[in-house]
Amino acid sequence: MRVAVIGAGIAGLGCARKLKEAGVDVTVFEKSRGLGGRLATRRVGPYTFDTGATTLTPRESELGRYMASLPIGTVELISRPVYAFEFGRIVPGDSSKNKDPRYGFRGGISRLAKSLADGLDVRLETRVEAISGQREIAGETYDHIVLSAPTPQALELLGTASDARRLPQVSYRPCLSVLLGYATPDPDVPFYAVIDPHQRNPIVWVSIESLKVSGRAPEGHCAVVVQMNRDFSRDHYTSPDDRIIEEAVSGMERLFGEPFGQPAVTDVKRWRYSQPEQVTTLDTANPPGTWLWLIGDGLAGGRAELAYSTGIEAAGRILS
Ligand SMILES: Cc1cc2nc3c(=O)[nH]c(=O)nc-3n(C[C@H](O)[C@H](O)[C@H](O)COP(=O)(O)OP(=O)(O)OC[C@H]3O[C@@H](n4cnc5c(N)ncnc54)[C@H](O)[C@@H]3O)c2cc1C
Repeated sequence: MRVAVIGAGIAGLGCARKLKEAGVDVTVFEKSRGLGGRLATRRVGPYTFDTGATTLTPRESELGRYMASLPIGTVELISRPVYAFEFGRIVPGDSSKNKDPRYGFRGGISRLAKSLADGLDVRLETRVEAISGQREIAGETYDHIVLSAPTPQALELLGTASDARRLPQVSYRPCLSVLLGYATPDPDVPFYAVIDPHQRNPIVWVSIESLKVSGRAPEGHCAVVVQMNRDFSRDHYTSPDDRIIEEAVSGMERLFGEPFGQPAVTDVKRWRYSQPEQVTTLDTANPPGTWLWLIGDGLAGGRAELAYSTGIEAAGRILS
């Protein structure tokens, strides 16, 4: 059996890996230069930032079992909790959420994707533009084709295969992630991240990467990822980087006071499809007998372990 998987995010890689383990001939097509999709890590100067998914809370999931099989030292348990920005102050966050163990990756979260892709035939920088109704991609024929792009993009590809299946609305919010590297030590705080649960500020999430896991910044430096909220990200998606960085830096000062000052390095990562706001299900998206499969977080929820589970589930159905 030959299967093509479009997209080397966590859902596509999970699916491809499970198929390959069962002896299937699998090819993964990925449009970008790197593995992982929204499990993304960027190095800027001496700093390492997770620009998409920031931590994993796999609990008792398939992903949790896979992570437990990785060599010791790859995955780090994050010891600090998440606090909340409420009524103009930083206060302890949701205690029930803070009870769930959270994990990060020492060299960046994209390491998880690299590990999943080990031994797979992944063709990077290969965007699939169209799928023919004869199950063809770029002149090659497959028994099954799996689409793991964010659902709105996957639906465009379905159209090229003349597949007219109807899905309930699946929508995603955009997110601007701002990367800030400071040549000053980490702040003396009891948390690694702050969330604005009511989204009243342009900043919805701050992760102090150098307090999250080890090795993110040189000694005496501090690496921070600021995620802008949905409205700001939508309104400023095409604004120049300087404008976005200015808002993030001044927002940091509002949150923390003066000690952060001006960052030594900055960068912006734009996510048009960051996390789904409305999802459907794997069953709804994949009619019985299909050879053209939809997987990914639009069918489960905007969490890495949920996206992964859609890939594993689809692989199981293809195999059966
Ligand atoms: C800012 C941000 C913060 C987040 N925080 C968390 C968090 O803390 N914890 C958590 O669990 N989750 C978090 N998430 C969500 C999590 O990252 C996603 O749910 C998960 O990574 C989705 O995986 P996926 O495989 O479904 O999709 P993706 O990772 O988007 O993978 C799809 C892949 O398909 C490729 N592709 C698309 N079209 C084509 C084409 N035509 N041809 C070839 N390749 C194509 C893309 O390049 C991409 O690599 C966050 C996401 C963002 C953006």
